[in-house]
Amino acid sequence: MSGTAVADPAAVGARFADAVRQDAAAWDARGELPAEVRRALAQDGLLGADLPRRHGGLGATPAELGEVCARLGGVCGSLRGLVTVQGMVGAALLRWGTAGQRERWLPALARGELIAAFAATETEAGSDLAAVATTVERHGDAYAVSGEKRWITFGEIADVYLVLGRTGGRPAAVLVEADRRGVRREPVRGQLGLRAAQLAHVRFDDVRVPPENVVAPPGFGLSHVVGTALDHGRFTVAWGCVGMAEACLDAAAAHAVRRAQGGVALAEHQQVRALLGRAVVDGRAARELCLRAARLRAARAPDAVAETVAAKYAAARAATSVAGSAVQILGASGCAPDSLVGRCYRDAKVMEIIEGSAQVSELIIADHLLRAHGHGPARRRPEDEGEGR
Ligand SMILES: Cc1cc2nc3c(=O)[nH]c(=O)nc-3n(C[C@H](O)[C@H](O)[C@H](O)COP(=O)(O)OP(=O)(O)OC[C@H]3O[C@@H](n4cnc5c(N)ncnc54)[C@H](O)[C@@H]3O)c2cc1C
Repeated sequence: MSGTAVADPAAVGARFADAVRQDAAAWDARGELPAEVRRALAQDGLLGADLPRRHGGLGATPAELGEVCARLGGVCGSLRGLVTVQGMVGAALLRWGTAGQRERWLPALARGELIAAFAATETEAGSDLAAVATTVERHGDAYAVSGEKRWITFGEIADVYLVLGRTGGRPAAVLVEADRRGVRREPVRGQLGLRAAQLAHVRFDDVRVPPENVVAPPGFGLSHVVGTALDHGRFTVAWGCVGMAEACLDAAAAHAVRRAQGGVALAEHQQVRALLGRAVVDGRAARELCLRAARLRAARAPDAVAETVAAKYAAARAATSVAGSAVQILGASGCAPDSLVGRCYRDAKVMEIIEGSAQVSELIIADHLLRAHGHGPARRRPEDEGEGR
C-alpha cells in the first residue's frame, strides 16, 4: 500500500496484494473489508485502474488490469470484487454516459471518493435480467425508482448504485445515490463465498432521482449499459480466478513438499502429483484464455466479448478445480478457518454462478461458434440482450 500511483498498474497491484496478504482471512471471518483498505486501494489508483488518465484513472491496458485482478484475487476474492464492481460502473459510464455524467462520476470513482455497486439481480431475475421488475418512471421533473435488488456486492456500503429497471416497459439504467430518501439496505452475512464483500439486499421505495441520473436512453439499459458492465465484470472475475488458481497451486505444491506421510513427502505420492499436474494445466490454460481476451479487448476486436465469456468460464472452472485439489492436498490444514485454499474453494464456486453462470456461458460460447457456421442462436442472443449473468 504505497499511497502513490505509479506508471505500472500491475506492479502496484502486486505490491498491494503482498501488503495485505496476512489480513485477508480476518476480513473474511469478520465479513467486511475495512474502510482503510478501501481507501488504500483508492490511493494506489486501483479503483480506477483502467479508467483513462483524463478521468483520474491509471490508464491500465486490459492485460495490466487483468494482472492487477489476478494479484488481488490470489489474496482475497472480496478485495478483487471491489475492484470489479467499481470497474463495472465506471466502464458503463465511460462508454454510455453523457459528457456531464463522465465528468461528474468518473474522477470520484477513480479516486475512491465514491464506492459504486451494480444492482441488477432481483428475486425473479437472475440469469435472465430481461425479467427485472424494478420501475424507473418519470414523475414531473424527476424519475421515481421502486423495486428490490438482491445480493449486491458492497451494497451495504456503496455510495451509489447503478440500477437496472424498466421505463415504460423498456430496460433502463439509472444511478441512485444511497443517501436518497427511500433507499434501504439489508446486509447479507455468511454466504458461501466473498464473505468480506459486504453484500446487501437493497430496496428502493419511490426514490426520486433527477433525469441526469438516467444512463443512456430507455431501451438501452440492458443491452448496452448493463451489457458493458457485465463484460467488464466477467473480464476482471476471470483474472481474479486465475490469481486464485495460481495461489492455490503454490500453496498445494509447497505443502506437498513440506509434509511427509508414510515416511515420504506428499510430493512423492503419485496421486498427489497427478492432482498437481492437472492443476498446473488448468491454471495455465485459464491464464492463456485470459491473455487472449485481453489482447482482443486491446485491439477492440469484435470477438472480444465472446472470448471474455470463454475466459471467465474457463477460469472459474479452473479456480474451482484447483482450489478443490489444493484443499485435498492440504487435508485438515486446508479446512482450517484461516486457510487461503479453503477460502478460495468457497469463493471459486461463487465465480461459477455470478457474472454469467457456467451453464449460461456455455450457451453464449456455443451460440458464437454456431453463428460462425451460419446457424442462428437457439433463442435470442444472450450477449446482445444483456442476458447471461
Ligand atoms: C456472492 C455474490 C455476489 C453477487 N453480487 C451481485 C451484484 O453485485 N450485483 C447483482 O446484480 N447481482 C449479484 N449477485 C447475484 C448473481 O449475479 C446471481 O446469483 C446470478 O446472476 C445467477 O442468478 P440466480 O442466482 O438467480 O440463479 P438462476 O438464474 O436462478 O440460475 C440457477 C441455476 O440455473 C441455471 N440456469 C439459469 N438459466 C439457465 C439457462 N437459460 N440455461 C441453462 N441453465 C440455466 C444457472 O446456470 C444456475 O445453475 C451476486 C451473487 C452472489 C452469490
